[in-house]
Amino acid sequence: MNTVQIKDKCFVPFIKEADILKEVERVANEINRDLENAAPLFISVLNGSFMFTADLMRFLTIPSEVSFVKMASYSGTSSTGQVKELVGLNQSIEGRTVVIVEDIVDTGLTMKRMLETLEALKPKEIKIATLLVKPDKLKVDLKLDYIAMKIPNDFIVGYGLDYDGLGRNYRDIYTILK
Ligand code: 5GP
Repeated sequence: MNTVQIKDKCFVPFIKEADILKEVERVANEINRDLENAAPLFISVLNGSFMFTADLMRFLTIPSEVSFVKMASYSGTSSTGQVKELVGLNQSIEGRTVVIVEDIVDTGLTMKRMLETLEALKPKEIKIATLLVKPDKLKVDLKLDYIAMKIPNDFIVGYGLDYDGLGRNYRDIYTILK
């Protein structure tokens, strides 16, 4: 088994690049079909979704734009602990079809915050495309329009996802060795 070590943790192969790409292509084809006349703006959430976004865009055949944003921890005071704000969106989304491109939906709290922020900017509609979802960990009610793969609760790295900044470059996805 091709175990990889990142700092104090070991990871084992979980999803092969070829299988990831098959699912990314399927999602792209669903979007090609659903949003053919919508000229969507894809909003890619950095850092984790850069590889997914690049592959997804290559499979899209409809007119589409892409913009990269970040959910950054808010530096102001808050009673609820960590609040994140959207940074990097420097174009109007009013009246547009927007597709959020995310690496992984875990509890869903980040996505919920993102949706609230984007909804205030009056787009025509917002769709969500996520590479991965951990259905058992979802805490909020979210309509995930496009899902490449559903996975168990374990921590994963690779294909854009990191452990402590490392592992994003792996072509396959690895899961933590327990
Ligand atoms: P949520 O707000 O849905 O709980 O968290 C979503 C974010 O947590 C993702 O965008 C990602 O950055 C991080 N995350 C959640 N699960 C994993 C995982 O298994 N591996 C990695 N590398 N990041 C994860």
